[in-house]
Amino acid sequence: SLTAGVVAVQGDVEEHAAAIERAAAARDREVTVREIRESGIVPDCDLLAMPGGESTTISRLLHGEGIAAEIRAHVAADKPLLATCAGLIVASSDAGDDRIGELEVIDVTVERNAFGRQKDSFEAPLAVAGLDEPYPAVFIRAPAIDSVGDADVLATWDDRPVAVRDGPVVGTAFHPELTPDSRIHGLALFENADADVPAASERSS
Ligand code: GLN
Repeated sequence: SLTAGVVAVQGDVEEHAAAIERAAAARDREVTVREIRESGIVPDCDLLAMPGGESTTISRLLHGEGIAAEIRAHVAADKPLLATCAGLIVASSDAGDDRIGELEVIDVTVERNAFGRQKDSFEAPLAVAGLDEPYPAVFIRAPAIDSVGDADVLATWDDRPVAVRDGPVVGTAFHPELTPDSRIHGLALFENADADVPAASERSS
């Protein structure tokens, strides 16, 4: 079975775990979800999710616990990562905030709390590349993606990119863990870097 890790230093962890389980069940895949609060767990994970929350806090804890380098190695090994909202901010190449140590695994620059300035949160039906029907996207004090380097835009809202893919990494400005619809987790974690990748425990080397 696959091992999925949810970065659990802060943010909506249980919701991501549940969404991963729903996406796996929809594909008849078995998955064990582990919460990541210290180093040493990420290397055992086939898939990773990095939740929304408070990006400065998440960044500080990831670097302080030695988890940041492990996530970079996970991505360098071409394993899937879904980074949402604050997770996207931390995964970006530049968040324009000295308190954030960007992981630089998604080639975009972001601006914190820029999206939906008039309304702190909103829901929007989003057309997402790879999905047949619109996705109900929940935005909560979401970052704006200011510039996109070597990454693909999967969805835009209000003429701005809100979902991007950079190799095995998918980043969303919205919160796919907060709706029952697990298609973004399916797309990012089970179909992105290829669901047929054998689980870490099944690999020979
Ligand atoms: N505003 C938060 C930040 O910049 C992100 C919002 C979220 O994850 N819901 O850290």
